[in-house]
Amino acid sequence: MYYQAYHPIDVVNGPGTRCTLFVSGCEHQCKGCYNQNTWRLDSGHTFTQALEDKIISDLTDQRIKRQGLSLSGGDPLHPHNLLAVLSLVERVKRECPDKDIWCWTGYTYEQLSSEQQAVVQHLDVLVDGKFEQTMKSPQLAWRGSSNQRVITLSSSAET
Ligand code: SF4
Repeated sequence: MYYQAYHPIDVVNGPGTRCTLFVSGCEHQCKGCYNQNTWRLDSGHTFTQALEDKIISDLTDQRIKRQGLSLSGGDPLHPHNLLAVLSLVERVKRECPDKDIWCWTGYTYEQLSSEQQAVVQHLDVLVDGKFEQTMKSPQLAWRGSSNQRVITLSSSAET
């Protein structure tokens, strides 16, 4: 997998203070996409074991407490990203069980394949659907257009 950016301290992509990973690869081509440089699967940098280790280390940092991990992009549920993202979310839930995981995808929940569902079962919140310019609103929390949904998947998730 490739990624565009990793922010070890982030207060804008989800609730609280978080770690955020922007992965590469997106097939949705939404009009008005703010992140077109993430569309190519091989853009950005290689996602390495060392970065996965750093994310775990940042999430468990006692000096600056993180509420959780945000996965954005690009699309973390692009079929080519699933193996690496599954490995990451399984590890976060195993080694950082008190942290929540939010994920933004251009697929709708109903469109998800069984392989994508295997990732989603480890998430706390999924923000789903393509960005639709005609339904754009700055008033919306955590999403750009009103067709997108903030779907709570675990009872402990705070939205
Ligand atoms: S899903 Fe997100 S990254 Fe992909 S094209 Fe749409 S707005 Fe851009």
